[in-house]
Amino acid sequence: MKPAAFEYIVADSVEMAVASLAQAGDAKIIAGGQSLVPMLNFRLLRPSVLVDINRIPDLAYVREDGGVIRIGALTRHHRLETSPVIARHFPVLTEAMAHVAHLAIRNRGTIGGSLAHGDPAAELPMMALLLDAELHIASVSGARAIAAREFFLDALTVDLAAGEIVTEIVLPKLPPRTGWGFAEVARRHGDFALAAAAATLSIAADSITEVRIALTGIGRTALRVAAAEKLIVGQTLRADVSNQVVEAVRAAIEPETDLHASSDYRRHLAGVLTSRALAAAWRRARESVA
Ligand SMILES: Cc1cc2nc3c(=O)[nH]c(=O)nc-3n(C[C@H](O)[C@H](O)[C@H](O)COP(=O)(O)OP(=O)(O)OC[C@H]3O[C@@H](n4cnc5c(N)ncnc54)[C@H](O)[C@@H]3O)c2cc1C
Repeated sequence: MKPAAFEYIVADSVEMAVASLAQAGDAKIIAGGQSLVPMLNFRLLRPSVLVDINRIPDLAYVREDGGVIRIGALTRHHRLETSPVIARHFPVLTEAMAHVAHLAIRNRGTIGGSLAHGDPAAELPMMALLLDAELHIASVSGARAIAAREFFLDALTVDLAAGEIVTEIVLPKLPPRTGWGFAEVARRHGDFALAAAAATLSIAADSITEVRIALTGIGRTALRVAAAEKLIVGQTLRADVSNQVVEAVRAAIEPETDLHASSDYRRHLAGVLTSRALAAAWRRARESVA
């Protein structure tokens, strides 16, 4: 199918983009177009105005800035995957990016587009939660910032009002001696995850000081599992602790059954993948130099 007719505006600045979005309540941004164009073609969306942000200079970057890394919303998936700054500070994100779709899609898709789209099986929302991201958002009324943990509301639903654009994603650096792990099951490599788990684990004097566990593919949004994270702090990752975490993860989630996997299978996967991600994070944390 072909999309319904729309007015097409190429914005050359964030100011122009938000002014153009403000023209019509149903205006949509187009970034990489990898999720939006199929929805237009199937006429699941019929915006009267499409605002193209691809020509806005300086909206695609990865910058180190003191204790944080700043990522422009138009940064393509492939750039994140190959960024030495990301590899140094967030190797878990480098690993996750290799699981996002296929190279052709990663060449076009953007971090802002993936977060704004809010697919419940996508890797970037999970990474935004794991890494305690803050999203910077602009509109004609001004700018605001929101923590990732408040941004994802439901499947394909995020805290973005009409007329708003995500401009930047800010990731605080992780503490020293932090290990990471990532584990995913998909039907074929590059497909959306049936389930995926990611963990970071920080240690001091061989005891765990902070743990983060995030999942995708097993609920209406990506999520953090606070009940499981709490169980590990102050401990070492013994087998009994790992088993308790797996049980806590399985108890905390309500996966849905769909064409690809049953709820029970996803719950099983969430436990197995969490224990793999945690074991890798524990190993890497202990191997790291104090
Ligand atoms: C075959 C296929 C397989 C895929 N597999 C995966 C996968 O395994 N994992 C995965 O994570 N993703 C996957 N994707 C999705 C891909 O990562 C998309 O690129 C991404 O979800 C959307 O990014 P985009 O830049 O293309 O956004 P677009 O398609 O341009 O936009 C998506 C939505 O976000 C809005 N938007 C875009 N940018 C902004 C912004 N800066 N501010 C506010 N709103 C904005 C748009 O208006 C639209 O509503 C797949 C896509 C395809 C086609």
